[in-house]
Formats: sequence, structure tokens, C-alpha cells
Amino acid sequence: MTEQNVPILEVVNLVKTYPAEDGGFFSGLLGGVGQRIPALNGVSFTLNEGEILGLIGESGSGKSALARIISGQEKPDKGKVIFRGKQLSSMSEGELKTLRPHLRYLSEDAFTGLTNDPKNRVDRLLYDLIEKYPPSGGGSAREAASRMLHRVGLNDDYLTRFPNQLSGGERQRLAIARALMLRPRLIVADEPVSNLDLNTRTSMLNLMKQLGREYKIAFIFISHDPSMVRFFAGTGRIALIFAGRIMEEFPARELFSRATHPYTKTLLEVNAAPSPLPGAALDPEMAFSEMERVDANELHLDSLESELSADGNIAASAQLSAANHQGCPFYRWCPERFERCPVETPQLLTVTRRLEEGNYIELAPEEIEPEHRAACLRYIDQ
Ligand code: SF4
Repeated sequence: MTEQNVPILEVVNLVKTYPAEDGGFFSGLLGGVGQRIPALNGVSFTLNEGEILGLIGESGSGKSALARIISGQEKPDKGKVIFRGKQLSSMSEGELKTLRPHLRYLSEDAFTGLTNDPKNRVDRLLYDLIEKYPPSGGGSAREAASRMLHRVGLNDDYLTRFPNQLSGGERQRLAIARALMLRPRLIVADEPVSNLDLNTRTSMLNLMKQLGREYKIAFIFISHDPSMVRFFAGTGRIALIFAGRIMEEFPARELFSRATHPYTKTLLEVNAAPSPLPGAALDPEMAFSEMERVDANELHLDSLESELSADGNIAASAQLSAANHQGCPFYRWCPERFERCPVETPQLLTVTRRLEEGNYIELAPEEIEPEHRAACLRYIDQ
């Protein structure tokens, strides 16, 4: 087995729900006190050493719950996260501590809300990490901090500043420095550059890719923007998540050529000129709101769900559907739905066929891409 295909992370059938606030919006919709909102519904995948998995999902799709569980901040209700052969959810605090240098979490708001308390000064934020997890190569904390600051395009002057004295781009460079400081094996990056302007975003993505390659770091890179994910994932893989389930998965290079799932195609269609560069205009929520408006009339949904759809709240609506109905979670918005969709839940399986005018046409062996999987009854044999 080469390093490239040694699994670093195995995610097995993750299920996660959150309590609905009693008397709140979801509690009423789901049937009263003690109800739970589904966030993840059977997510599974494997990531190899040094590999990049790009995860595309809208807000409320479950992507951030997945990021928090994989990075050990939350536990799943069911399922397993196995990192370098050890199951995270059954680890003690002590075991988690020894694992943390190897598994880092990076988000867009790493330093939001930090004040100019001395413990939040840039040098402290870096030294603390080094003191807690001393690097095997030795050297002083200041030398290590200075080296890493320079790697991310900052200099020693920044050591005595506070996060609230830095620009958005500088704060994100600092967050990347903290994430890379301990030479992790895996970084879970949840919308890490979404708040930055286009130029800063591009340079941050390039920096992360370059350092990731150099240090042989595996990434789970999460964003709502397909173009940005395509750009970062490079030769890795991409998965799309909707209503807490993976809808489609393929090699990243095939995002714009092989997308098969109606959810993926809808996301890409709203971007008139898909670009492999980050920052392409895309507003899937607007497109889905329009589809929902039409669907609510066509499908004669019950009044509560129609009301929810009329608000354009696709994430809430899909979660509600997934909680209350069997069938494909996307069927209410799907332009390709057919009679099986409301009653059968599609599994994530290799794409081997397509449905045309009511008949299944099997793909020729040379048309089948083993790494292309979709959860759509039109394209799989289940
Ligand atoms: S299973 Fe049916 S509803 Fe779901 S994505 Fe496929 S065609 Fe659309």
C-alpha cells in the first residue's frame, strides 16, 4: 500500500440530531416537546493520507455538523469516526489531547470576538500551541512562531498585535499558521476563506494548497461554492451534501463534466459560466427558492411544508422532509423526479445506468467510473 492509499480517516454511517428548542420553530413543526432536528443521516466516506476531499453544501445541509464531529468537537448519535485507526467517539479526553496536534480544525471565524486581552496576543496564540504540543525537532517557541508567520506571509511585527488589530486576510493567515504549526495529518477547513475578498481568498487558497502539499496534509475542504471547492480539491475528490446525506461523489476534475445527480446539476446550472477559479457568482438559494415556489403548487404539499417552502428556507424544508418522509430528500425540488422518488430512499452507489423515457439503460463498462457514486434512483441499481 502506498502512502496515497493509506486511509487516514474513515467515517462510517454518521447520524446526528440536535434538540429542537421547546416551543420553537422546529419543535412545532416536528410535533411538540422533546423533538430532535436531523442534521446528518448516514454519512460514510474514507479519506487517504495526503488526499483532499472537497465537500459542497448549502447552509443547513449538515456540512458544519460533520466538520465538528470529524474534528472531535462533537460526538455523533450513531456511527463512527476512525482517525489513523482509532475511533474518536470512544476516546478519553487524554487520548483526544494526544490526537489534537494531528487533526486540526480551521473555520472562517477563528478569531471573531477575541478582545485585546493579553492572552489573545498573536505571540501567545502561537506559543500556547507549541508549549502544549512541543514539536519533536526542538527549538524555541519564538523561533517556531516566527518561522510559521513568515510561511504565511506575515512577519515578526505581528507577534505583538492582537487579532482585532488585523485585517480579515491577516487574521485568516494567522488561523492558517495556527492550523499548520503542529504539522497535522488532517485539516478540516469549514468555509475557511468565505469572508475574504477575491484576491485575498485566492492567495489564501494557494497558500493552503502549497503548504498542504509540502507537509503532506490531508484536507476536508468545506464550502457552499462549487467553483471554490473545485479549485481547492485539484486532483482530489468532491462530495455534495444535502439534508444530511451525501448526494453525489466523484473525482474533482469531473465536477463540471460528469455531474449526474439532479441536485448537483441544479447547483451548477445556476452558475451560467462555471469557472475552475474561486469567486464565481453563484447563489443556489435563490434558484431553489424559485423552484420551491413552483413545486409547492404542483405537488399540493401539506400546509405547514408549503408555508415553510414559501419562506424559501430550503435547508429547514429538506430537514423536515427527511425527518417525516421516506423517499429521496430532494424529490420536492427535483426536476427529474418520478414515481419511485417519494417512496424509496436512494443509496449512495456507483452510477451504472440512466433512466430514459421510463426505461433503464445500462452503461457500458468503459462508461462506468468506479469513483462516481450518486444517491439517485435514476442512475443506480438498488
Ligand atoms: S431519486 Fe428521484 S427525486 Fe431524488 S434526485 Fe433522483 S430523480 Fe430526483
